[in-house]
Amino acid sequence: MPAAMLDDFLAYTLAGTRPAANETQGVCASGARWWWLDDGVLLIEPATIGQGATRSVLVSAGVHGDETAPIELLSYLVRDIAQGAAALTCRLLVILGNVDAMRDACRYRDDDLNRLFSGRHLQVPQSHEAPRAAALEQAAVRFFAGSGLAVASASTSDSNAPGERWHIDMHTAIRASAFEQFALLPHTGKPFSRAMFEWLGEARISAVLLHTTKGNTYSHFTAQACGAEACTLELGKVRPFGQNDLARFSGADQAVRHLLAGTHGNAPAPLPRVFTVIDQLTKQSDAFELLVAADVANFTPFAKDTLLARDGDYRYTVRHDEERLVFPNATVKPGLRAGLLVVDTTDDTLSKLV
Ligand SMILES: [Zn+2]
Repeated sequence: MPAAMLDDFLAYTLAGTRPAANETQGVCASGARWWWLDDGVLLIEPATIGQGATRSVLVSAGVHGDETAPIELLSYLVRDIAQGAAALTCRLLVILGNVDAMRDACRYRDDDLNRLFSGRHLQVPQSHEAPRAAALEQAAVRFFAGSGLAVASASTSDSNAPGERWHIDMHTAIRASAFEQFALLPHTGKPFSRAMFEWLGEARISAVLLHTTKGNTYSHFTAQACGAEACTLELGKVRPFGQNDLARFSGADQAVRHLLAGTHGNAPAPLPRVFTVIDQLTKQSDAFELLVAADVANFTPFAKDTLLARDGDYRYTVRHDEERLVFPNATVKPGLRAGLLVVDTTDDTLSKLV
């Protein structure tokens, strides 16, 4: 039954259920209209879309199949919207990313889905994840193309003012972090928006990592190709389905609910600290050695002149007074990134928000 789909979108999706042709859309108890678009892809629109440009928000989880807590949060959000317990004043696209990996309780089958966007799936067409990356790109493009349709038909001008398209991609990290909850913002060359930083503050995100090169993540794709205010949230460590303490994720959950309701939290929250990528560790060969503890926490600071990695003639030594290491991973294939180095750019970044 379609109602059961919305009551437990996660269970419905994990079971591989597909609605009958005449049951792919409907109206919730709240009056919101919904459309099942694909495995794990659900569009919901409020009963009435107000005058002017309508905000469009894509919320995704499970792009890594074993990152369970945000997937559960998103499923509860669908239920609450359907039942009228959570307000919806904007268009919402819900995406459970790597559904096959979710079923297998693993991160991915052949390739990390969050490295296959912005067309990189075309280079690995035989990968199990390639068709899913293509489908999720198309779902985002179609969704954001439909934003502000009511005014677009009345005017040829761009009805989608910046800030009206959002993408929140929720993850959990594999390792501990000096900042338990942090966000990654894609590099598009455009200035960063105050609206996003204020939202991240409200979500109790304590640190933000700014990329300085283009990536192949889902949030990079939506920022670049769809003009979305996009972020990847890393919300603490992974546990199996049902074993997550969802209270630890309440900051992000409440902030997503406020974004969808068009409201704000009560007290203004402090803006997060900001770190900008300045370099990376590159694995040259199988002789690569990472000279830090295998379980070193993300954002661990290292002092100038510390030798962090070596590989034949290659050395990485800290050059700034302090550099922090994020996503260290010595097990990647040679030629790939084995860690990112970041420095604190809080004052400079926050002074330039638009
Ligand atoms: Zn992830």
